[in-house]
Amino acid sequence: MALIVQKYGGTSVGTVERIKAVAQRVVMTAQEGNSVVVVVSAMSGETDKLINLAHQITAAPGEREMDMLLSSGERVTSALTAMAVEAAGHKAISLTGRQAGIITDTVHTKARIEKIHGDRITKAVQDGYVVVIAGFQGVTEGGSDVTTLGRGGSDLSAVAIAAAIKADLCEIYTDVDGVYTTDPNIVPEARKLRKISYEEMLELASLGAKVLQTRSVEFAMKYNVPVVVRSSFNNNPGTLVAEEDTDMENVVVSGIAYDKNQAKVTVVDVPDKPGVAAQLFNAIASANIIIDMIVQNISSDGKFADISFTVPKTDSKKALEVAGAMAKELGAKRVDLREDISKVSVVGVGMRTHSGVAARMFQTLADHSINIFMISTSEIKVSCIIDLKFTELAVRVLHDTFGLAH
Ligand code: ASP
Ligand code: MG
Repeated sequence: MALIVQKYGGTSVGTVERIKAVAQRVVMTAQEGNSVVVVVSAMSGETDKLINLAHQITAAPGEREMDMLLSSGERVTSALTAMAVEAAGHKAISLTGRQAGIITDTVHTKARIEKIHGDRITKAVQDGYVVVIAGFQGVTEGGSDVTTLGRGGSDLSAVAIAAAIKADLCEIYTDVDGVYTTDPNIVPEARKLRKISYEEMLELASLGAKVLQTRSVEFAMKYNVPVVVRSSFNNNPGTLVAEEDTDMENVVVSGIAYDKNQAKVTVVDVPDKPGVAAQLFNAIASANIIIDMIVQNISSDGKFADISFTVPKTDSKKALEVAGAMAKELGAKRVDLREDISKVSVVGVGMRTHSGVAARMFQTLADHSINIFMISTSEIKVSCIIDLKFTELAVRVLHDTFGLAH
């Protein structure tokens, strides 16, 4: 007997047949003696369709109206799912974000949840209802305006509701079986992970983002909500994302992540004196560019430094401009941009207690003549910037080196 939140993504409620299948699973879970709160996404493709409609009306639709528009998709599936659960033989009631008590800030189209008044949900659960809540939406304090939580936001709705009503488990139903040791499209032998820590899940975001929105993982970590990612198309057990335990520490490496959306900017021959890095990165920050890695090398005579950093490829032109202007001001020689790079990372909480992972990673890349341009490490991750064309090879050989296959 447990209180379970089940979130169903767009493909899981993409057709009437799929909604009926969801209802079957919900009713079965309830008949096993559990209380079930369901959170639904819009039918797959629906949110994109609505965005497209808005852009046919005007190039720059107002964000308040966008929220009114986009929140309708989840309202549709919540009502249909509640009907389907009733038809499958269990009492059910649908609630919008407002009715469910989800209060957000006022930042339209990417609002943050501030609090959840869960009493109406809890009361309905106690009265024996399956409660079906429209994901992705909330209201501002006082309920005056509808907000949405950003793309993929119904994962966050589910985790936040689970935390608010103190659910025992939050199940995220999607169209894949869980989180894998790496991208199965690159390594067919990639294995589904039985469990993984919140931190690892965040580090594997480039693989996991498709299955679990990053903000929802941060929220789950903060409130310690156990999350299971699993498929609504079968009964496989999925991947548990939870607090780190000793089991997890025994696994040194849990996965290999990669990110092809990186570009490297190098400011060459910056006079080496206090304040240059501060000036350069203040300028980059003012342009709202998010930096991932930074490496500085000092020339052998100690007079000049090369400063390299990586930015999202989408910001590379802007970064080049800003760094170019700064280079002039600082008296640096020139700025180079490389876009044909990627980041490959080895991730695992076991690195806290086991040494040698970085060395093994570098050796493996060396054995395949893959040059490393930049290196960064954290407690649970080692990342290398390499040539874009070697990404798949690097992922494959690293997956092999760390014994991650079946
Ligand atoms: N329907 C919204 C989207 O497509 C929210 C979600 O599915 O999580 O982004
Ligand atoms: Mg999603």
